[in-house]
Amino acid sequence: MTTNEVALVTGGNKGIGREIVRQLATRGLTVYLAARNPELGSAAAQELAADGLDVRFVQLDVTDVASVDAAAKQVEADAGRLDVLVNNAGIVAEWGTSVADITADQVRAAYEVNVFGVVTATHAFVPLLRRSPNARIVNMSSGLGSVNLLSELDGRLATQGLLAYSSSKAALNALTLVYASALRADGIKVNAATPGLVPTDLNTQAAVPRGSRTTADGAVVPVALAMLPVDGPTGVFRGPESLADVAPW
Ligand code: NAP
Repeated sequence: MTTNEVALVTGGNKGIGREIVRQLATRGLTVYLAARNPELGSAAAQELAADGLDVRFVQLDVTDVASVDAAAKQVEADAGRLDVLVNNAGIVAEWGTSVADITADQVRAAYEVNVFGVVTATHAFVPLLRRSPNARIVNMSSGLGSVNLLSELDGRLATQGLLAYSSSKAALNALTLVYASALRADGIKVNAATPGLVPTDLNTQAAVPRGSRTTADGAVVPVALAMLPVDGPTGVFRGPESLADVAPW
């Protein structure tokens, strides 16, 4: 199946991001698997390409503006436009630290990837997305970023005490809405996805049970948002199981 559409997924070398790359390429898209580590990124892209998928590695560290701008230039030279940007790269910087002991440096480290990294990538790729007749941006958020759920002080999410991570994903949710409003004029949809709790390298140190969902389960909603038709919604937060699941902001 060929759609001639072009996607780029940040943090695509492993975890849910790698699975988003695989599912989008399986649907016929050309997918740039963006990763900060050239060895890991090109190895992952080669594995997926060996299955007959059009997956291409591009080096990109979302905290390094020059690398993101260079990746955008490479996509422009190769493909001429971008239809889908999945801002998937994310980190937790504070496992094992109690809330009162979390430092501004830890919060800053999380924001560098989860917030400023998304702005850097969006800024670099919007000019290419403007050339698409149906551009979609998907931001990988989390239930842990839901201010509504965090307002339940004894609730499952607030008591995890992930000060940097939760607040970074709440900021990402706000970014999603402001971009969604501003980019409507360009026909670019901007939505947020929560993949649900999936055991990956991100949460090996989590104090809570990590469940048994697979990366394929976690990729379902971001991929559905990445495949929205031209009249699809913008400024929505969906997941974790299906596009019908409305996640609370
Ligand atoms: P993961 O397996 O740890 O993968 C994270 C990816 O982000 C890796 O490819 C990593 O690259 C990349 N990354 C980190 N810093 C980067 C940077 N500066 N520049 C570019 N890439 C960078 O985590 P995951 O569970 O798949 O998480 C994917 C997304 O889903 C994240 O945004 C996460 O917050 C979100 N999420 C996950 C869960 C869950 O339960 N797993 C739940 C809710 C939301 P390296 O390999 O080089 O480190």
